[in-house]
Amino acid sequence: MAAHVIDYLKASAEAYPEKVAFADQKNSFTFRKAEETARRIGSAIMNQGIVRQPVAVYMEKTVESIVSFLGVVCSGNFYCPLDTRMPAERINTILSVLKPAVILTDQAHKESAQQFAFEGQVLLYEEAIAAADGGKRLDQVISAITETDPLYVLFTSGSTGVPKGVLVSERVVTNYMEWLDETFDISSEDVFGNQAPLYFDVSVHDIYSALYFGARMEIIPPSYFSFPVKLIEYMNERKITSFLWVPSAMGIVAKLDVFSFAVPQHLRHVMFAGEVLQRKHLDYWRRYLPHAVYANLYGPTETYVCTAFVMPEGMEGDGPLPIGQPIRNSQALILDEEGREVADGEEGELCMRGSCLAIGYYGDLERTKASFQQNPCCSAYPDRIYRTGDLVKRDKEGQLVYLSRKDYQIKHMGYRIELGEIEAAADRVEGIADCACIYDEVKGRIIFCYDGKELEKKSLEQELAKRLPAYMMPSRFVYYPALPHNANGKIDRKKLKEMQK
Ligand code: AMP
Repeated sequence: MAAHVIDYLKASAEAYPEKVAFADQKNSFTFRKAEETARRIGSAIMNQGIVRQPVAVYMEKTVESIVSFLGVVCSGNFYCPLDTRMPAERINTILSVLKPAVILTDQAHKESAQQFAFEGQVLLYEEAIAAADGGKRLDQVISAITETDPLYVLFTSGSTGVPKGVLVSERVVTNYMEWLDETFDISSEDVFGNQAPLYFDVSVHDIYSALYFGARMEIIPPSYFSFPVKLIEYMNERKITSFLWVPSAMGIVAKLDVFSFAVPQHLRHVMFAGEVLQRKHLDYWRRYLPHAVYANLYGPTETYVCTAFVMPEGMEGDGPLPIGQPIRNSQALILDEEGREVADGEEGELCMRGSCLAIGYYGDLERTKASFQQNPCCSAYPDRIYRTGDLVKRDKEGQLVYLSRKDYQIKHMGYRIELGEIEAAADRVEGIADCACIYDEVKGRIIFCYDGKELEKKSLEQELAKRLPAYMMPSRFVYYPALPHNANGKIDRKKLKEMQK
């Protein structure tokens, strides 16, 4: 039985050498070519003499990036995708935590990569793919990989202003692939239509489904999500049968009534994850594609997909879908503030245990300890749980239902954002005394409130853009002579929210 993802690559390259594994608008890799190229990249990295170290991959969202990830894994190391559109200051903050031995980039991004504050090597994709296959030496490195080894590290927003590097093992992904295989009717004939950025774990599903099932992953050009008729045409042209998207992407199609122009003809699996999908948007999709299988997948980056609800065909009802039941080898505990399990039907924090758990936060034992805790229901041996910060309850059928967050983490257009990270970035802006970000869920807007000196919106945006990715940019800036405070002296966010009405 396969123990890690390179076993999947090897098996699919043997079974389907000439079949396309990964495709984008411009290029594609067959399984054979993907394996050959990944081995060459792996050999080039192996020759740097590093093992179980992070390798940052700083490239556009292309098939070459995916093969680079696999190359890193072949070398016995783990990858960290870096978004080429992220401000250099945020990348430098990430690099200060990650301290990669190598940044793998291509000729087009070499210059910017060389300007980052880091001490390691910049390795060029173009040179790495020309390296000789490491042969037996590389085989030995690959056979030393275990399922508990790290596979990737993904950085998510951090409330202190420093993003958190979630380190995920091979086991999380192989357990998930086995669950997918048991739960859905997926085969090598399937084509996965990728929507999520490669630095977001939703895309992990696409990459490894292609390898596991010998199927194909198609990167849908991101701009097509702004022109959804083109999007559907592309899906039909590329014969996409299955996807896992964030609900906002599905919502765009529903809001613009795209299916009255064109309907996906090959789609059989509609999966969504990352935030709540509005029922009216789900109903819209079901009206046009009544026979597709619909599944709501749930999980923070720290547990990958850990629960799921597969919707029975013809299911009626309103309100958001439940997040369902834990996937294989995983258990859900709903705990109260004191760490006791709540009674049936009561609200509490969702805590997960089992194979879905990430290793922890890379280079941050303190944060790891705070979020990955000892199971309070077990004192005899180490048994880790991850506290998700999500409030849930069980419904009458025993399905988990997502209610809200415990903290100031939000989902905006599918992106996970700690409002604290925006506030931390603004802390350094001259003239701002105090600030607080609030989120208007109805309009989907981040509102930035501050006092001190009134500043021009443009200059504020320019300052924040130096530190924040575009999706974190507030859409409204509101100046107050003094922000409201509560009895404890903290900024009163509830009041601030009311003041926006
Ligand atoms: P991320 O780490 O980006 O995957 O974000 C994780 C957070 O997104 C979770 O803690 C939830 O708050 C939210 N989330 C993920 N999946 C779902 C879902 N299916 N329904 C509702 N919220 C979700």
